[in-house]
Amino acid sequence: MTMRKQKRFGLDIDGTVTDPATFLPYLNEQFQKTLTLEDITDYDLTKSLGITSEEFWKWMEQHEQTIYKQAKKADGVDQVLEEWKQEHELIYITARASHLEEITKNWFEQQNLPFHHIELVGKHDKIEAIRTHEIDIFFEDKHDNAVAIAETFAIPVILMDTPYNRLPTPANVVRINHWTEARPGSMNGLNVRASKEKGFHFQLYFLKNGKRPECFRSFLRVVNAFWDEKCNNRFRR
Ligand SMILES: [Mg+2]
Repeated sequence: MTMRKQKRFGLDIDGTVTDPATFLPYLNEQFQKTLTLEDITDYDLTKSLGITSEEFWKWMEQHEQTIYKQAKKADGVDQVLEEWKQEHELIYITARASHLEEITKNWFEQQNLPFHHIELVGKHDKIEAIRTHEIDIFFEDKHDNAVAIAETFAIPVILMDTPYNRLPTPANVVRINHWTEARPGSMNGLNVRASKEKGFHFQLYFLKNGKRPECFRSFLRVVNAFWDEKCNNRFRR
């Protein structure tokens, strides 16, 4: 008998599982810039590059396959995903277009990164895909996506901190600086544990550098309330 995995983890790919600076060397070369990640304070790269979005997308179409094939993974991501895959389902939901499926899957295999499913939605709006897959927690680097997901589904959303997403967020969006902060079973991490005896009570420990961040209490309260409500509804039916 196959046991259903405990939680469905939804993950963005670019800038979340891949290094957020992946595109920069290519863009610098093409547009003769010397930009570093710290210079990218807006998700829309055309502003930093001083080019039109037509120019950008034309360039993107010509180069994206090469860049995705050669992308570096985000520092520390492999260890965390490897630990999670035992207990949880890993479902990647990306804005990449469907013709990039093979390149994307090959990349995961080459990088030795675990996946249960990869959904290429071809647009930034991931709401429907998250609904369809009944995602329990989402990982994202794009600020407006993180906020929309958090508000629509009232699930915890982990926002991978980058210079281009430093804007205010609702309480159920938690910003982390490095994947090690999301390590399960680690005192420096996010530990998601579901226990059937407690009616899928959801416990989440979130500790930064061994200390509770200021947002911890309110965040934990919010998360517990969401999960209690969800679980109670499920059992009442
Ligand atoms: Mg992304």
